[in-house]
Amino acid sequence: MAKLRILEFPDPRLRTKAARVESVDDTLNALIDDLFETMYEAPGIGLAATQVDVHKRLLVTDVSADKSEPLALINPVILEKDGVTVTEEGCLSVPGYYEEVERAEHIRLRYVDRNGDEAEMEAVGLLAVCIQHEIDHLDGKLFVDYLSEAKRQRIRKRLVKDKRQRTAEAVTL
Ligand code: ZN
Repeated sequence: MAKLRILEFPDPRLRTKAARVESVDDTLNALIDDLFETMYEAPGIGLAATQVDVHKRLLVTDVSADKSEPLALINPVILEKDGVTVTEEGCLSVPGYYEEVERAEHIRLRYVDRNGDEAEMEAVGLLAVCIQHEIDHLDGKLFVDYLSEAKRQRIRKRLVKDKRQRTAEAVTL
């Protein structure tokens, strides 16, 4: 297993629309293991393949406190949404920023599991929010897109500046 590098906003690669996964094989399962390892180490409760520069419709989540509910969703499609919930969201690709985002409280979705079998599930609350956030990544969308243009630009400027500082520090040894 390997920890993968997570792309950060405003990296244009985060805007790529991911392609459907055509076959669930050992290579894909190895990638799923790497996504889990990267997510747990970050730490985060969700990670989409887009965030590690792999543009396939694949995401992992675990909203438990003790890593006991790992869930890998391949080609996820939301079939139904209802209710409204507002959550203060963060994102491993937008480090250090948390903002309120409104999403559906309850979703039903169809997906393919890591054995290659098609399945359906329902999710509520935090898991539902997390899955909607990760599916947005597969469509090239970030949670900052739900904020005002002014707020998004402020975050973008600060992250670009932080990154420049980090790079400068890295070579000042
Ligand atoms: Zn995210």
